[in-house]
Amino acid sequence: MAEETIFSKIIRREIPTEILYQDDLVTAFRDISPKAPHHLLIVPNTLIPTINDVKAADEPALGRMVTVAAKLAKEAGIDEDGYRLIINCNQHGGQEVFHIHMHLLGGKPLGPMLA
Ligand code: IMP
Repeated sequence: MAEETIFSKIIRREIPTEILYQDDLVTAFRDISPKAPHHLLIVPNTLIPTINDVKAADEPALGRMVTVAAKLAKEAGIDEDGYRLIINCNQHGGQEVFHIHMHLLGGKPLGPMLA
C-alpha cells in the first residue's frame, strides 16, 4: 500500500488550498513553489505513486488530467501562446512527490525543453 502524500490531504480539502478544479477523477491547484507565472498541478484523486504504477483502469483519470490541463490553460489565457505539461517519474525524472501530478507551466517563453 503506497504512502499518502500531502496531495491526498489537498484533494480531501483537509488543508487550506485554493482548488482550481475538482471532479470525480482529478483535482487541480497551484504549485506552492511556482517555476513560471502560471504553474498548476493536476493530480488524479486516487493515489498512484508514479507513472510506473499506472494500470489500464487509470486511463480515464489520466485522460481527464490532459483535458483539464487544456481547460485551465484556456481559462488562464495562455492557450494561444502555449505552455508545457510535464510528469516527472522517480529520481532521474526529478520526482519529489510520489502521487502522480501533471505540471502545467506557462505565462512566459519556456525555451527548449532539453537545452
Ligand atoms: P515533482 O518534482 O514533479 O514531484 O513536483 C512536486 C511539486 O509539488 C513541486 O513543484 C512542489 O513545489 C509542489 N508541491 C509540494 N508540496 C506542495 C503543496 O503543498 N501544494 C502545492 N504544491 C506543492
